[in-house]
Amino acid sequence: MTEGGYATALDLLYHLPVRYEDRREVTPIAVAISAGEGAYTLAGRLSELRLLRTRRLRVVRGLLTDASGSLPVVWFNRPYLATQIDPEGDYLLHGPLRSGKAGLELLNPSCERAGEALHGGRLTPVYPAIRGLGAPVLRRLLAALLLEMDLATIPEPLPAALLTRHGLPPLGLALAALHRPGEGEDPALLNSRRSPAHLRLIYGEFLELQLDLAFLRERAVRVARGRSYRFDDAVRRVAREVLPFRLTAAQKRALGEIAADLKSPWPMLRLLQGDVGSGKTIVAVLALVIALENGYQGAFMAPTELLAEQHYANLERLLGSRYRIALYSSGAPDLARRRQALAAGEVQLAVGTHALIQDGTAFARLGLAVVDEQHRFGVEQRQILQRKGDRPDLLVMTATPIPRSLALAAYGDLEVSVLDELPPGRTPIATEVVSARQRAEVYRRLRAALADGDRAYVVFPLIEGSDLVAAEAVSELGEWVRSYLAEFPSAVLHGKVPAEERERVMRAFAAGEVRVLLATTVIEVGIDVPEATWMVIESAERFGLAQLHGRVGRGPKASRCIALAQRPSREGRQRLEVFAGTCDGFRIAEADLEIRGPGDLLGTRQAGLPAFRIADIQRDLEWLERARDDARELLPRLMSDPGLAVLCRRVLPWAEDRSRRFGGGWGCGS
Ligand code: ADP
Ligand code: MG
Repeated sequence: MTEGGYATALDLLYHLPVRYEDRREVTPIAVAISAGEGAYTLAGRLSELRLLRTRRLRVVRGLLTDASGSLPVVWFNRPYLATQIDPEGDYLLHGPLRSGKAGLELLNPSCERAGEALHGGRLTPVYPAIRGLGAPVLRRLLAALLLEMDLATIPEPLPAALLTRHGLPPLGLALAALHRPGEGEDPALLNSRRSPAHLRLIYGEFLELQLDLAFLRERAVRVARGRSYRFDDAVRRVAREVLPFRLTAAQKRALGEIAADLKSPWPMLRLLQGDVGSGKTIVAVLALVIALENGYQGAFMAPTELLAEQHYANLERLLGSRYRIALYSSGAPDLARRRQALAAGEVQLAVGTHALIQDGTAFARLGLAVVDEQHRFGVEQRQILQRKGDRPDLLVMTATPIPRSLALAAYGDLEVSVLDELPPGRTPIATEVVSARQRAEVYRRLRAALADGDRAYVVFPLIEGSDLVAAEAVSELGEWVRSYLAEFPSAVLHGKVPAEERERVMRAFAAGEVRVLLATTVIEVGIDVPEATWMVIESAERFGLAQLHGRVGRGPKASRCIALAQRPSREGRQRLEVFAGTCDGFRIAEADLEIRGPGDLLGTRQAGLPAFRIADIQRDLEWLERARDDARELLPRLMSDPGLAVLCRRVLPWAEDRSRRFGGGWGCGS
């Protein structure tokens, strides 16, 4: 076969069955007749074949006979059967038995010479259609391909030692087994994708991903930085003086992990993950103190202007008397001058938005970069920031609780610290799930709370009403809410509101000029409004709960969250039950992930998570972990070991593409 043809054939080999039907058992005709309607595999001789024409159809009728009895058979639009059937031949038929006008008959069955059967008499693979090609055609295509191709010649990317370690078959055999499962295979294992052949492919996909991630990590980390940090009494004293409260145990642990990274000769690459309000900022601040006290510059990047300004105000308050801090956002009038000061090393801490990674921004000696709400940035943006210095230490933070399985898959190249504890003095959020029929009562209570000085979010799934989706919209029910609460200033926020207007509205809400914020999920961007103590969620069954959780309950006052549910689907109700039953954002994110899948949870901005053919990060978490460990073990030999050359060539293009853009030369040894 030519190279190109081979590639196409290989593509087809990766078109895997979605399930398998157990058609191994051949049923005697008499048994099928007494059992009645259903699908059967039957064997026997065919006689009395005749072609009939109706106005629109050509119908072939015949009689199937075995030792136990006979049965009428009907085929539509397969006229050739009338002439091609050999009355002396043994045939295997698989299809549904239905009661027609003349009693039970076998309807449109597959019909094959016994001994060559593809569709019946075995564990039959069922393929998803490709452009109108149905499962029977694909079954024939793949069978022909399997005859034509020696699957043992498919290059095996994985080292034999790993396959042995996990008891997995080589790639060629695995593919063959998936398309042509052996007689003795367990259909339950095949259908739950637990067969050794399935596990081989799942593991292979994970291993390639984890090698990519390990490779990136290696590049970023395993070159000692030309910088080290002092940890002496002076640094400790400043840290103590800066700290406005006692750290939680979780914060102490995270800070200890960060300090260990900074003490090591390699650049830090760490994700600080913690529920909203868990106090990530102060951990970052203390890490920055270490860098600044050592004479290096710090960077603090946030996804929106408002958030950058909030951080700037906070950092200025905590650190302003000791260091020169400046704000970098596109709106700043004297940006050019601030950039000069940064490049000259006069500004020690740069706080800002994407403006920090624009071409015009340069640092004199960037030591530590912090990225807040990391999930809002792509992997690339994080890397551009890293290139603003000589392998700066990097701390990325996320408030979106990311389940462990997803963190492993998407962030396998980072170390992870988790803040799993809230600072003391928080009042728990009272959560209620209420039927939409009680809406009037809910808004009456909200009006009373507003009269009491509270601020509130009212969240909608839709901007405008839709005939297709049964859910409430900001532009419809939202208008009623606004008129009902007319005595309190309100504003609307959603994805179609221009960015500047959005900033203006958030600012007004933070300042208390706006008391009710009607929004779609844009409130997901972590803005801190401790005075917002109420949240009403309309059509709550429609939301990703991780997006919403934690927006309230950020201040000392008791907060309330009311989820109004329309007639939720079973899935929706499941999620709402989780929501009402827990205040733990991590638990909620796990539930979200289970129900909605990872793409949704991370959003489209999350680069780096490939679409797997067959692997599933939740179902196959155990294999993901194995692959992560194996990848770290293989990596040192990846480019030099000839036994790993195939794997290296598969994994590296992606990583190489990055290296080309970000410097460094790499190639596979063989
Ligand atoms: P997030 O993790 O969502 O970024 P923040 O860092 O904004 O959380 O912290 C939320 C609030 O909790 C802030 O007002 C912060 O000052 C406060 N906080 C953080 N850590 C502590 C602590 N150990 N004790 C008391 N308050 C704390
Ligand atoms: Mg934060």
